[in-house]
Amino acid sequence: MLNYHSIGVEPGNTYVLHPDMLARQMDYLAAHHYTPLTLGDFARIIEKKQPSPERPVLLTFDDGYANNAEVAMPILQRHGFPATLFLSPGFIGQPGYLSWPQVKELSAAGWDIAPHSMTHPHLPQLSIEQQREEITESRRRIEQALGRSADVFAYPFGEYNEDTLKILKNEAFRYAFTTKEGDASPNQSPYELSRIVVLGEDDFATWVQKLSNFGKKELKVPT
Ligand SMILES: [Zn+2]
Repeated sequence: MLNYHSIGVEPGNTYVLHPDMLARQMDYLAAHHYTPLTLGDFARIIEKKQPSPERPVLLTFDDGYANNAEVAMPILQRHGFPATLFLSPGFIGQPGYLSWPQVKELSAAGWDIAPHSMTHPHLPQLSIEQQREEITESRRRIEQALGRSADVFAYPFGEYNEDTLKILKNEAFRYAFTTKEGDASPNQSPYELSRIVVLGEDDFATWVQKLSNFGKKELKVPT
């Protein structure tokens, strides 16, 4: 599972990846026969309800930057690649962030839209009631806007505590993604799935290295 944030030209910002680099990475995935998955494929594969392709990969984009629709979507579309957007609906309409029509455009282009809290707080610093509100309201807004279930979560900043896990379980979320790198094991909790964060300063060789580590380990998640 690869994790992206903003796609644009902003040297020095580690969470902004240059569009040319994203294009090169997507070309590489296509040339090396990787199969980007929808969130539904991903769930069915780890639940063993669907066979895994040889080289599966889940492309995830966090937060809801407008450039995900304006820049990333066309690059992925060249290859027919789906992706997953973990969206904080509280950002919608703010400068630099997606609008609801753009979110719907991504959805129509085969992107899964999933919740990432309302306002992107540090969840462990909140009361359990505040956490529940952040999590369930983000889900509700997305489900209401798109008319489909959005029961996979990604933690803002990758941070969570026991309360967060309790809420996800009570609210019947299926999976949740951290930003923890590596150490995926067959015993990994469905609420503690790792991702590989793609950083703006990674050169191409570093990215290929991260990807090949992922190929070896990450696909065993979880049983
Ligand atoms: Zn985020």
